Amino acid sequence: MQKTHGLSHCRFCGKKLSALRMLFSSESEFCGKLHRFEYAQKQNELGLARLLEGDSRTAAENRWEQCARKIQSTENSELVSSVANS
Ligand SMILES: [Zn+2]
Repeated sequence: MQKTHGLSHCRFCGKKLSALRMLFSSESEFCGKLHRFEYAQKQNELGLARLLEGDSRTAAENRWEQCARKIQSTENSELVSSVANS
């Protein structure tokens, strides 16, 4: 693929950006401040959602692990007491 020089598109809406904007604007990847902001916000939301999803999954796994360990320990103590009683 050939890379086109001097031309870029807004990363939010895909609008073609002028070479002038790219030269003199800090928003060289966006057609305006608003789309730069909205793009950043969208990325934050995606990242946050991924983070929350990961957190909840870990918490559920932890809870399950604790539960399983508790079941195992009660089974063991019951086995020990039944052996001791016989
Ligand atoms: Zn745009």
